[in-house]
Amino acid sequence: MSGTLTVVGLGPGDPRYLTPEADTALASAQALYGYGPYLDRVAVRAGQSRHPSDNREEYARAAAALDHAARGGKVAIVSGGDPGVFAMAAAVCEAIETGPAAWRALDVAVVPGITAMLAVAARIGAPLGHDFCAVSLSDNLKPWELIERRLDAAASAGFVIALYNPVSRARPWQFSNALSRLRRHLPPSTPLVFGHAVGRPDEHVELTTLEAADGKNTDMATLVIVGSRETRVISRSGRPPLVYTQRAAEVSA
Ligand code: SAH
Repeated sequence: MSGTLTVVGLGPGDPRYLTPEADTALASAQALYGYGPYLDRVAVRAGQSRHPSDNREEYARAAAALDHAARGGKVAIVSGGDPGVFAMAAAVCEAIETGPAAWRALDVAVVPGITAMLAVAARIGAPLGHDFCAVSLSDNLKPWELIERRLDAAASAGFVIALYNPVSRARPWQFSNALSRLRRHLPPSTPLVFGHAVGRPDEHVELTTLEAADGKNTDMATLVIVGSRETRVISRSGRPPLVYTQRAAEVSA
C-alpha cells in the first residue's frame, strides 16, 4: 500500500492567506502533523487524526509523518508561511535522503504558502521590489560566524535583506549583534521594517531606521526587512508611509 505525504504552507496566520490548494490538501488528509500552534490553525474535520509536536522536533516530526505515509496513510504536515522557507519541506527532504528506502517511494508534494516576508512587505509598499535575499538569524543549525559573513556579503552587495528568526528566548543578543554588523555597510538612515505577527490579531508593523533600531523592536513573531541604498520612504500626510525599493540601481563606491 502506497501512502502520500503533502507538506502544506498555512500562510502567516489569517485564514484568508490560506490558498485554495492548501485548503483542499488539508481537507483530504487522514492525518495531520505539525507544530502544535500551527495545527491549531487548521479547521477540525471529522475522521482526521492530529499529531502535534514541539517546535524544535522538526526531523522527528518529518520522520513520524513519513513513517505514517509509508504505512499507507494520506498524511499532511503543516508549516506556517511557506513550507519551503526555513520550515518543514527541507526537513522532510533531509529525512527522505537519509531514511529508509520506503520513504523514497512515497508520493510527496509541497503546497506553497505566503511566506512572512511577502506578507510584511505587502503591508508597507514594495520594499522587496528589487534584488533581495532572506537570512535566518537562528544559529541552531549553523554557526553565528557564518551568519555574520552572510550579512556582510548581502549588505555590501546591495541586497535588501529579510531577517527571519531575529531572536528567541535562547538568543537575546543576536539581533543587536546583527544590527552592528549591518551598520558597518549601510548608512544610518537605512529604512528598517519590523512586521510583528502579520495576519494575526496582534499584528503590528513599525518603520524605523538602522540608526534608531534596537533589540526591543523585535521578538520571535517578527520579520525584519532591512533596506538597501535604493530603498525609499514616501511620507504622506494623514496616511501611513510607503516604503519601496526602486528598480534602478548604480554600482556604489
Ligand atoms: N515558514 C515560515 C518561516 C518560519 S521561520 C514562513 O514562510 O513564513 C519563523 C520566523 O518567521 C519567525 O521568527 C518570524 O521571523 C517569521 N514569521 C513567521 N510568521 C510571521 C508573521 N505572521 N509575522 C511576522 N513574521 C513571521
